[in-house]
Amino acid sequence: MADAVVVGSGPNGLAAAVLLARAGLEVEVFEAADRAGGGCRTAELTLPGYHHDVCAGAHPMALASPFFRAFDLGAHGVELATPAISYGHPLDGGVAASAWRDLDRTVEGLGRDGATWRRLFAPLVRQWEAVVELGMSDLRRMPRDPLSALRFGRRLLEQASPLWDLRFREERAAALFTGVSAHAIMPPRQFSAAGVALLLGTLAHVGGWPIPRGGSQAIVDALIADLERHGGRVHTGHRVDSLDEFAGVRTVLLDTAPTELLRIARVPTAYRHRLQRYRFGGAACKVDFALSGPVPWRATELAAAGTVHVVGTRAEAMAVERLVASGRHAERPYVLVIQPDVVDSSRAPGDNHTLYAYAHVPNGSGRDVSPDVVAQLERFAPGFRDLIQATHVRPAARMPAHNANYVGGDIAAGAMTLAQTIFRPTPRWNPYATPLPGVYLCSAATPPGPGVHGMCGMHAATRALREQFGIRIDPAVLLGAPG
Ligand SMILES: Cc1cc2nc3c(=O)[nH]c(=O)nc-3n(C[C@H](O)[C@H](O)[C@H](O)COP(=O)(O)OP(=O)(O)OC[C@H]3O[C@@H](n4cnc5c(N)ncnc54)[C@H](O)[C@@H]3O)c2cc1C
Repeated sequence: MADAVVVGSGPNGLAAAVLLARAGLEVEVFEAADRAGGGCRTAELTLPGYHHDVCAGAHPMALASPFFRAFDLGAHGVELATPAISYGHPLDGGVAASAWRDLDRTVEGLGRDGATWRRLFAPLVRQWEAVVELGMSDLRRMPRDPLSALRFGRRLLEQASPLWDLRFREERAAALFTGVSAHAIMPPRQFSAAGVALLLGTLAHVGGWPIPRGGSQAIVDALIADLERHGGRVHTGHRVDSLDEFAGVRTVLLDTAPTELLRIARVPTAYRHRLQRYRFGGAACKVDFALSGPVPWRATELAAAGTVHVVGTRAEAMAVERLVASGRHAERPYVLVIQPDVVDSSRAPGDNHTLYAYAHVPNGSGRDVSPDVVAQLERFAPGFRDLIQATHVRPAARMPAHNANYVGGDIAAGAMTLAQTIFRPTPRWNPYATPLPGVYLCSAATPPGPGVHGMCGMHAATRALREQFGIRIDPAVLLGAPG
């Protein structure tokens, strides 16, 4: 019998499994889908030979996270290719704003707001490790660098208040910042949206927003190979319907949403009620394209951007996110676009391209919004429509069939409100532990939340090792051991 079981093989489940296996435990992972990897899978969604990232596509967090830095993706054969522009933002009239990896170049492109952008980000870029520590910790420890934490906190307060409109004088910088804050799928000018923008915005000027050659699957495949080298096993096509399956196993880590925990286990009533209050937020309709060529952006510099936020002005982005939060669709939605072919020609045969897009929609939306996505792209890249060879659409309501963690199509596995960022999934000093002996949650529904960073898995596994096996060891030391 295994010492430890992990339910779910997303990046957090696998990060936890790798740590447990490296600590000498016998580990088994059970995954409902036919292929391991959760939100980090790559598949031929449109046409044969076209490789699309099914969920996560750009990886600033995988590059910067303490878990993956210690694991060392490069040493495990994963090539993270970094576009010169981390994220771009087209505006009408052929104008664009771009967050180049090079902060100076970004500042040059932002006109009167260039110096302001530098004042916002340069101190964070200089202290990026402290920013990462803040953004990816379990949010229950005093920051090691209080001065940097204060610097971050001051910017957070500003960007989460009406003061945010005072910082920028022109549309380009304002739209650029709003575009990245909308990753939280929350109305901007809230703490979590501002926090996401400051963290991702800082990383844009540090290591950039890389794209794995061959697809995001390379990241999870590297974790699986390491797990297997340390004696662990992954069973795919095995949906866990009851924790009774693992009676006698010392510890079980659930890389699942709290809804799954409630479905498969009997938990004490008070905890059940608290988990039932956990809220899912705005959702995404994923649209993937096979294209006969690159996107013909009117603002030609966007040809160098890995990620592009397609929505228009700050006011338009604000309006879209407010509509989505109130349960309505926007006619001209926020569309997040990733152009993997900018750095990876292996995604499509010959001179063809793949294009990754998702539009923000209300939770549970069953609508195919691909016509609106195409219209938004046409607005900033006339002629886009003529390049389309095939389209694959996954409406938000169909996401849970593919991954039970994305309830109603919420790709963050739980709304990123301030309370739910700190107290994911419910207020507890140890948010990973459950009242069930030996059972832990380790998914993006625990701190620090969504993203391919492996940190929820790392924090949960560290606690399980200590509490269930008396093993106290720095995860970085475990990961630094020869593979
Ligand atoms: C459309 C989309 C775009 C995204 N874009 C990005 C991006 O560009 N960059 C980024 O960093 N992040 C992105 N994310 C977020 C990122 O993918 C997730 O935050 C991350 O994958 C969470 O990892 P996880 O291990 O917590 O869970 P997941 O990756 O969601 O994996 C959970 C796994 O558990 C399995 N499971 C659930 N219940 C059971 C059960 N009962 N039995 C067995 N198995 C079960 C599921 O099948 C799934 O494989 C995106 C997500 C989506 C959906």
